[in-house]
Amino acid sequence: RARVLSGIQPTAGSFHLGNYLGAVRQWVSMQDDHDAFYMVVDLHAITVEYEPAQLRERTRLAAAQLFACGLDPDRATVFVQSQVPEHTELQWVMACLTGFGEASRMTQFKDKAAKQAVASVGLFTYPILQAADILLYQADQVPVGADQRQHLELTRDLAQRFNHRFGETFTLPSAYILKAVEKITDLQDPTAKMSKSSSSPQGILDVLEEPSALRKKIMRAVTDTGSDVIADEENKPGVTNLMRIHSALSGLSLPEIEARYAGQGYGTFKKDVAELVTDAFAPIRERTQKLLANEAELDRMLAVGSSRAGKVARETMDLVRDRAGFLRPA
Ligand code: ATP
Ligand code: MG
Repeated sequence: RARVLSGIQPTAGSFHLGNYLGAVRQWVSMQDDHDAFYMVVDLHAITVEYEPAQLRERTRLAAAQLFACGLDPDRATVFVQSQVPEHTELQWVMACLTGFGEASRMTQFKDKAAKQAVASVGLFTYPILQAADILLYQADQVPVGADQRQHLELTRDLAQRFNHRFGETFTLPSAYILKAVEKITDLQDPTAKMSKSSSSPQGILDVLEEPSALRKKIMRAVTDTGSDVIADEENKPGVTNLMRIHSALSGLSLPEIEARYAGQGYGTFKKDVAELVTDAFAPIRERTQKLLANEAELDRMLAVGSSRAGKVARETMDLVRDRAGFLRPA
């Protein structure tokens, strides 16, 4: 069975619609026919300013949402990145194979650094830690949104470089990106991606949000001049984004959606989008609350995942240490 791996940052209390449609929904569907590893990447979350108690809470919240979205601890290994120390160890080895100029070309760093008072070295090396996350598990496929394409290319380059220099060690991973949902955009700024850390409250649809708040935001989403529900990325990015959301949740194609709302204006369409979103989120929200009510059990589920993940990580690291020339302890 092919191995699949991905991660999500505990940088906010709730996942948003982009995380769900662009990533987590694929994680759930892939757990049945893949050897699946999914993690809450708390080490990545500390690359920007954070508060320790809040990080702990958000890590549990993220894990609870993963299970609530349908990840099954019997079918998938769900774990917390910092509980497997090999991630940072491999990160160092890969960092020493990464060119400074190569790392400097990462566009996510540039975007995120611009929003920080002080950009940390950790934020700069983030993509190298991500490469280590993936290579450690010898992942074949990595289901992510379009924003991760460049990081996945770096991961492949680093894997190839290591293999070439030190002998065949790492599987070359492929990004698994679904075109239709690769970039869900901000409701108020429909050319920017919806983001946990940079979308405004009005621009983001949180999985754990009250249905009435979700509805309001969708009704107020920036649409475009005109009144036709027509997919047109260039001239109607706002409407097109809502149509993509509709399509992903209703199963209708974009032309079918155009036909359904022909001559009806934006109002009815938006109301239906709101209903699709609130219907999709309601059960996830309910299950998340249930899981959070038993913190000890949630922590135990994660410990089981981290111990399974650790076994695989240690196997890879033993190989890496040998290949890289580190002396084995006598
Ligand atoms: P942050 O702003 O802190 O980076 P984020 O919203 O980008 O948070 P991540 O935890 O970095 O969320 O990403 C988790 C997964 O969700 C990744 O696979 C990412 O590509 C995907 N993703 C994030 N935002 C979107 C989006 N707007 N559309 C589609 N996929 C997305
Ligand atoms: Mg992100």
